[in-house]
Amino acid sequence: MSRRADQIGAHRAAYARNRKRIFATQDYCGICGKPIDKSLKSPDPMAGCIDHIVPIAKGGHPSAIDNLQLAHWTCNRQKSDKLFREPTQKEPVVLGNRNLPQSMDWASYRAP
Ligand SMILES: [Zn+2]
Repeated sequence: MSRRADQIGAHRAAYARNRKRIFATQDYCGICGKPIDKSLKSPDPMAGCIDHIVPIAKGGHPSAIDNLQLAHWTCNRQKSDKLFREPTQKEPVVLGNRNLPQSMDWASYRAP
């Protein structure tokens, strides 16, 4: 996927503008609903950051204010971890006594 540089530039300008607006007008995390202390700064996990409501990777708009909200850094991080986990990914199968064959034909068994 390639994007023209001027489009990225336009998004970047709109994003910076909307980011300022959100920090000026919103006080609560859009993910957990708790207040955000704007005096905290990254890398504090409770610092405010801008969250894409629909992630760009999922087709969300990169800079529209409708797709942006204030969120705790840590909430944003947890949300993206969930969203980006592949749906086909499964818990590792633990091979224990229970998944081993329950019966064996001992008559034909030969020691290796
Ligand atoms: Zn939060």
